[in-house]
Amino acid sequence: MAQAAEEIRRIVEEVLKGTDISALLGSSPGPSPGCGVLADVESAVQAASAAQRELAALPLETRSRMIEAMRQAVLSNNESLSREAVAETGLGNLRDKQAKNRLAAEKTPGVEDVQPSAFSDEHGLTLSERAPYGVIGAITPVTNPIATITCNSIGMIAAGNSVVFNVHPNAKRISNRLVSLLNEAILGAGGPRNLLCAVADPTIESAGALMKHPGVSLLVVTGGPGVVKAAMGSGKKAICAGPGNPPCVVDETADIVKAGRDIVAGASFDNNVACICEKEVLAVEGIAERLKHEMRANGAFELTGQQIEAVTRLVAPNFKGPRTESAPNKEMVGKDPSFIAKAAGIDAPAGTRLLLMEVGKDHPLVWTEQLMPVLPLVRMRSADEAIDFAVEVERGFRHTAMIHSHDIEKLSRMAKLMDCSLFVKNGPCYAGLGQGGAGFTSFTIASPTGEGITRARTFTRERRCTLVDYFRII
Ligand code: NAD
Repeated sequence: MAQAAEEIRRIVEEVLKGTDISALLGSSPGPSPGCGVLADVESAVQAASAAQRELAALPLETRSRMIEAMRQAVLSNNESLSREAVAETGLGNLRDKQAKNRLAAEKTPGVEDVQPSAFSDEHGLTLSERAPYGVIGAITPVTNPIATITCNSIGMIAAGNSVVFNVHPNAKRISNRLVSLLNEAILGAGGPRNLLCAVADPTIESAGALMKHPGVSLLVVTGGPGVVKAAMGSGKKAICAGPGNPPCVVDETADIVKAGRDIVAGASFDNNVACICEKEVLAVEGIAERLKHEMRANGAFELTGQQIEAVTRLVAPNFKGPRTESAPNKEMVGKDPSFIAKAAGIDAPAGTRLLLMEVGKDHPLVWTEQLMPVLPLVRMRSADEAIDFAVEVERGFRHTAMIHSHDIEKLSRMAKLMDCSLFVKNGPCYAGLGQGGAGFTSFTIASPTGEGITRARTFTRERRCTLVDYFRII
């Protein structure tokens, strides 16, 4: 209120001075610190709702310019954003955070993804267009704060929506800074103020209020099982990106040198905090030794005997029994491998990217989304046994899985049986998000609700208009 009053007073003063005030009105005023970051859910939804109406009146060309400006804002601030994200959350590492954020800025689809289509025949013409929902309530994780907000913002705005973010409390400084930065970019490109809003001090309670707010038409949540359950029970349309436990099968026909390299690269990426990272390796026994050799050659440090026990006790302290998920130790989630090794009393050599441990089928880490660079490997008698076990350990999330094989029958069998949103053949996990693999990216992979790798068109309602008997030109 005080800010609005101050703005009115400034404009009145300029009018009295005879100044042309057009630059001070509408969407033109320059950005202010904390632009789009509002005190509570109510004011955020109101501001986002007004901004969405303004957006609807703007030409698509302006929307495209806004998207381009948002991409540039992330790219040109990537290092400081990534550094602050690592510092605030204590998760991941600078190099990979930057790679993730660059990927989100460059490869999230924009306005081109929401093209209309038309059908015509002897009965006339039918138009099909992708309309916005209005205000989207988005809830984001601590693990990928920048990449998730970047890809959500680009896709949701490209589709004509505005957004209210309720970010993870442990990433609120960096997330809200990014929301401000993106809003400044939008304003600079001629877009409306407050198209992206964020609750300044987000909590689980404010997330609940956002979920129930009548001004919010769609929920998009990215996080663990709790937030997915809450969103699905909210009574609103919800797009939910939940947890996973991606298995990676390696059989005797695989290129083992490449598999070893790819698995270390994928499972160590941002210290394994991404939901898509390889979380357990199921290796056919004929190639298991060679695979471990290649993994060691690429920076995996293999733990043995007592070391395996010490690390297991440290990272999965609440063992609940064989073949059961065991909540990972939060103090170790997303930490560097050397930090985890040291905490378990082990000296990992310099350059260690991943802690590798060969374990049995019952080991808790095989069944747990550990979100840290500690990777269990289980020996399997055959590719088929590995594939069947992969389905079991993925535990029905239908999220992500990987296989390294040149046997087309095994590649196809696993693809079908996993039935997941993302399936990578012969590459690291992130190839499935367009990093070294074909296609666009997203950091909101909606498996529970089925939208998969979300994109601008995911955030639209399809509407059709039919004109009977006219407007054909042949
Ligand atoms: P989290 O579930 O702790 O938090 C995610 C967000 O949900 C936060 O903003 C949090 O405040 C909110 N939240 C949590 N419980 C809630 C509840 N009951 N009601 C309302 N809001 C609630 O998850 P996290 O630690 O931030 O992220 C890691 C988890 O997210 C992992 O399980 C990972 O697999 C998953 N994830 C999935 C994807 C995907 O695309 N599928 C992407 C990133 C992360």
